[in-house]
Amino acid sequence: AAPQPADFIRDIVAEDNRTGKHGGRVVTRFPPEPNGYLHIGHAKSICLNFGIALENKGICHLRFDDTNPAREDVEYVDSIQEDVRWLGFDWGQKKFYASDYFGKLYDFAVQLIKMGKAYVCDLTPEQMIEFRGAPTVPGKESPFRNRSVEENLDLFARMRAGEFADGSKTVRAKIDMASPNIHMRDPALYRIRKVEHHRTGNQWCIYPMYDYAHCLSDSIESITHSICTLEFEVHRPLYDWILDVLKTPSHPQQIEFARLNLGYTVMSKRKLLQLVEENLVTGWDDPRMPTIAGMRRRGVTPEALRHFCARIGVTKYNGLTDIALLEHSIREDLNKRALRVMSVLHPIKVVLTNYPEGKVEELEAINNPEDPTAGTRKVPFSREIYIERDDFMENPPKKFFRLMPGGEVRLRYAYIIKCEQVIKNDEGEIIELHCTVDPDSKSGGATAGRKVKGTIHWVSAQHALNAEVRMYDRLFTVEEPDGDKQGRDFKEFLNPHSLELLKDAKLEPSLANAKPEIRYQFERLGYFCTDPKDSKLGSLVFNRTIPLRDSWAK
Ligand code: ATP
Ligand code: MG
Ligand code: MG
Repeated sequence: AAPQPADFIRDIVAEDNRTGKHGGRVVTRFPPEPNGYLHIGHAKSICLNFGIALENKGICHLRFDDTNPAREDVEYVDSIQEDVRWLGFDWGQKKFYASDYFGKLYDFAVQLIKMGKAYVCDLTPEQMIEFRGAPTVPGKESPFRNRSVEENLDLFARMRAGEFADGSKTVRAKIDMASPNIHMRDPALYRIRKVEHHRTGNQWCIYPMYDYAHCLSDSIESITHSICTLEFEVHRPLYDWILDVLKTPSHPQQIEFARLNLGYTVMSKRKLLQLVEENLVTGWDDPRMPTIAGMRRRGVTPEALRHFCARIGVTKYNGLTDIALLEHSIREDLNKRALRVMSVLHPIKVVLTNYPEGKVEELEAINNPEDPTAGTRKVPFSREIYIERDDFMENPPKKFFRLMPGGEVRLRYAYIIKCEQVIKNDEGEIIELHCTVDPDSKSGGATAGRKVKGTIHWVSAQHALNAEVRMYDRLFTVEEPDGDKQGRDFKEFLNPHSLELLKDAKLEPSLANAKPEIRYQFERLGYFCTDPKDSKLGSLVFNRTIPLRDSWAK
């Protein structure tokens, strides 16, 4: 695991352990709503909750917060489990669904009603908002606030039985309509929604509100530390009120931290869903998406994401995290593990006119200079090769150290070549270069030590594999696409060049059996892996995870 610096939440947990506040137990939970795929913000929460549990020999529950049936789906339930596991965490037997508690939550509401702490209210949603007032203006009490316990019990039972229309009644906590905290002004606990639930079907037509279900779910599971994002700080008095009034045996401590906001992307599931539904990306796992599934498909490793989460730390202050930090974590990890190979993305053919026809040499190449145990491989060399179009210039500027007419360059692991002739078609386009090799300039040869300024990569033409390469880039062109000062829609900032398809890439033959789990550095070009969905034996598709260097000017 990544070295984990202390933070204010870990300090609280350590102090609780010292004082024995929770009997020495540490039980956290990660509570996603299954209404979308997990994104990198969730990764921060996963690393925090599972990390704290692991460090303290505790347990982290996976709880599906599935109390809002309209937008939830089993596809999301499945993807969430896959993504948490892929990130490297394990909930063991501790997988729960808030919907499993619907019965208990109903009983707790009955209890609140009997205590005179909750009532059935007939105000419409619009009236509720109007009656609630504003932070500086006290709210107005609902005319239904003083219904008798008997009447409330009867109405609540009939709400459950489906007698009333959606939105026509709610159950509300009876707290304080003059509270300076809006969330304490008789918040709704239950609403009527005649919507099928992906687990409970049509068994229920009333569903608990988040604030009501969450604290009680935490309590039912005997969570010790309920870690959530800062927006919930103002909900904490309600969290505590419900558990205090019901005198639940377990009263977890809610602790809030700053959510991850990352530059050049959006992170709300609602917006990510829009991108998917409007076909602006190919799906939740599109390699440009900030989802865990997208990043995995792009070639990002779980280690890189965990390191990133450790690096950004945990604070109480909302801010914007520089995407360069994520990119740095990705590069740092791939640099250590990626196998170096040679691939030509924009090929131009080079004929080595003094190299014997039919001759093939197997040259030795280093798999990973960062990892001596990665060994070497053989790369075939022959009379016709491909080089990168960019590595040749007919009229180069002064500091151009690659190939030019009459100039020399070294081919990586092979010979020094000299450009003798530029072959053009009738339109004047360069179609081929004719070069000569210095036959003694190979490693071990008489002129091997001869200095030339540039070294370029290449692929033997007769041995090359054809491949499609997908060059991915940032999905948005601005750092804060959803915080536009002029109120423009985030989709206006989509990067039109976030995907460039290269259909004619030439790869060295060792890549024939490339698998998505194996990461590659295409020398001088960046990090790549095969696309787990679309790449097939014989028709390879590679995704660019990230270029070698940051090319975005700030
Ligand atoms: P979204 O706004 O994307 O819908 P959400 O908070 O509604 O996010 P949940 O599925 O409820 O999504 O989130 C599960 C957990 O992940 C919650 O505890 C939430 O606090 C945490 N989480 C969500 N987004 C972030 C983020 N950007 N940074 C850190 N934690 C996050
Ligand atoms: Mg949520
Ligand atoms: Mg949400």
